[in-house]
Amino acid sequence: MFKQLKILDEKDKRLRQISKEITLPLSKQDKETIDKIIKQLTYSQIEELSEKYDLRPGMGLAFPQLGILKRIIVVVYEYEEGKFENYVVVNPKIISHSEEKVALETGEGCLSVNREVDGHVPRYARITLTGYDIDGNKLSLRLREELAVAFQHEVDHLNGILFFDKINKKKPFYSENEIRLI
Ligand code: ZN
Repeated sequence: MFKQLKILDEKDKRLRQISKEITLPLSKQDKETIDKIIKQLTYSQIEELSEKYDLRPGMGLAFPQLGILKRIIVVVYEYEEGKFENYVVVNPKIISHSEEKVALETGEGCLSVNREVDGHVPRYARITLTGYDIDGNKLSLRLREELAVAFQHEVDHLNGILFFDKINKKKPFYSENEIRLI
C-alpha cells in the first residue's frame, strides 16, 4: 500500500522556520519517514507511477516540508534512465563552494510551491557538503551542476528559505554571459 505524504504548502509558516540539528542516532520514526520520502520521490519520477498515484515529480525533499523541523534532506537522483541514486544527509553543511554560479535554465520548482514561478535562481556550480548518513556515519559529498543545485535548494529549506526568495524581482532572468544556464 502506498500512501502519499502530506507536504506543506508555501503559505505554511513552518516552512519559514529554522530547523534543528539532530542528535544521532536517528529514531526509528525518522528512518521510516526517510524511507517514505525516498519511495515517494522515486515513484514521482517514474511516469507510470506518478500518474497512478497522482504525484508531482520532484527529486528532493527536506523534513520541514512535512512539518518536521529537523535538519534532514533527501535527494533521489535519476542518473540514468530508470536508475536512481538516493542521498540522505543529516545535519548537512555546505563547507565550500565554487566561485562560479549557475542557474537552471527553466527555473526551479518545489513540492511545497504549487504554482509556476518564473525566474533564474543563482546557485553555486559546485559545492562540498558534509553531514551524516542514515546510520550516523560522517559523510562528505562533492556535488556539481544539477545535483549541487538540488542540494542547495534542500539545505535552504532547513533555514526557512524558499527558492523564489533568491529570484531577482526586478530582473528575474539572466543572460548567458551573466550566469551559466544549465
Ligand atoms: Zn523545495
